[in-house]
Amino acid sequence: MSYSRSSGLNETKTRCKVCAKLIPEGAKKCTECNEYQSTLFRVLAGFDLKGIIALIPIATLAFAFIQDRVETKTSDLKIALVTCEQNKVSLFASNIGNRAAIISGASFVTNGLPSMPLSVILPPSKKLIDGGETRAIDLLTDARLSPGGLVPFEQRNANICEVTITIETIAFDHEMKTQDIVCDCPR
Ligand SMILES: [Zn+2]
Repeated sequence: MSYSRSSGLNETKTRCKVCAKLIPEGAKKCTECNEYQSTLFRVLAGFDLKGIIALIPIATLAFAFIQDRVETKTSDLKIALVTCEQNKVSLFASNIGNRAAIISGASFVTNGLPSMPLSVILPPSKKLIDGGETRAIDLLTDARLSPGGLVPFEQRNANICEVTITIETIAFDHEMKTQDIVCDCPR
């Protein structure tokens, strides 16, 4: 049995999903009413896609704006002490807020003696701690001002010895805060 497909006479027909007229089976568009036979294509053809795409940036901006109004902007540095050595304090600073903050300075007090400065060792590009970021930071004593490091020589034999390290931070809103961390005197 053989027949010619090119004659068109034996071509299988189906009904258009829109106008119900007979059209060739597998046709993507109706030969009578010119409608897409796929429901998805018909729906898409009905939309003004340019209009929808043009709306997206506005919707995104509106969402960002609403979020901006709802979400509180804070920067909150939490300090975790790692080690207290003779001339160096190592710590981690984590900004658990959502705005940047910086560590602007540090100092220490040993057993109630006058406060001494600590140098904050951070490359300039790392000074800004963004929200969600954590930095490893070293604080160094000044060899001229604090020749004994964190523990002045006259305190070396003290029964009770404690170093209070004060960290100054500046939040994004220019508010300055200080935080104290305490460590035992390194021996
Ligand atoms: Zn049709």
